[in-house]
Amino acid sequence: SVPAAILSALSAAARGGVLFKGGAALETLAAVDIFAFDKTGTLTTGRAEVTGIVAVDGNETDFLTALASVEAHSEHHIADALRREAARRELELHDVHDVKAIPSAGIVGRDAGGPVWVGNRRMAQMMGASLDHDDFQALQDSAETVVYLGREARVLGAVSVADTLRDTSANAFAALRESGVKTIAMMTGDRQPVALRIGEALGLKPDEIHADMLPEDKVRLVGEMARDRRIAFVGDGVNDAAALARADVGIAMGAAGSDVALQAADVALLSEDMERLAAAHRLARRTASIIR
Ligand code: ADP
Ligand code: MG
Repeated sequence: SVPAAILSALSAAARGGVLFKGGAALETLAAVDIFAFDKTGTLTTGRAEVTGIVAVDGNETDFLTALASVEAHSEHHIADALRREAARRELELHDVHDVKAIPSAGIVGRDAGGPVWVGNRRMAQMMGASLDHDDFQALQDSAETVVYLGREARVLGAVSVADTLRDTSANAFAALRESGVKTIAMMTGDRQPVALRIGEALGLKPDEIHADMLPEDKVRLVGEMARDRRIAFVGDGVNDAAALARADVGIAMGAAGSDVALQAADVALLSEDMERLAAAHRLARRTASIIR
């Protein structure tokens, strides 16, 4: 049977919005001294805003319409930002079919103009498209996420989107370190300049910041770190599910996270407040010291 101390810790954690799937997860969390975090939607709010637009032919309206029409089929945070921008400008979106998401790259489909794609540098490379366009330089030099729209090897334009740090992420890191967590790392599918800006704002060292990661890269790195220590992975996306499952303790963002992430995780964070996570870790440690 489950010790009373664990039961009462589980219910105390639940009252704070941290749901453990069982007592074992709480006991394992007590032994965790590495925390790895996804960036977008986990350390940041995931509510991105469009900050720059470059349409190669100069027609912003047509460009944004085509872009948002493709993104209307995606659940990614970036897609939300583009849909909101299109709504703000009252653009009328058109039909896109045969849509397929390419994890950590973007999305492809077909509209009245033929095949169309939206995504990052990796996506452009897959399509044989070059991004060395003077018009894109300013966006690429920013420490923001850059998304391109193209038709096969032809790039039609780019937008930058910026997301904001959750106001509780920094305090959560400080609290975790205070309770003896040795390593905090960030693993993101986003590009290096964005990862460095967010990571450094949270006091991470460059070697603790991992960018351009595919879902399988996150799994591999979590596995390496788990070899001789216990690791928790915190994430929200479909692209985090495998890493959540691979970690000793997988922790999913409950309110805004994806169902796939929640299912793969051992713990759901129902609150947006990251300090609740640090509090749950402290509680797990205290409980473990009582029952031993
Ligand atoms: P993270 O690990 O930070 O949560 P993802 O792996 O979900 O990020 O995405 C990595 C990158 O893939 C994004 O920064 C973006 O460049 C690109 N991407 C993925 N899905 C889309 C999409 N629907 N639209 C545009 N870009 C996308
Ligand atoms: Mg994410």
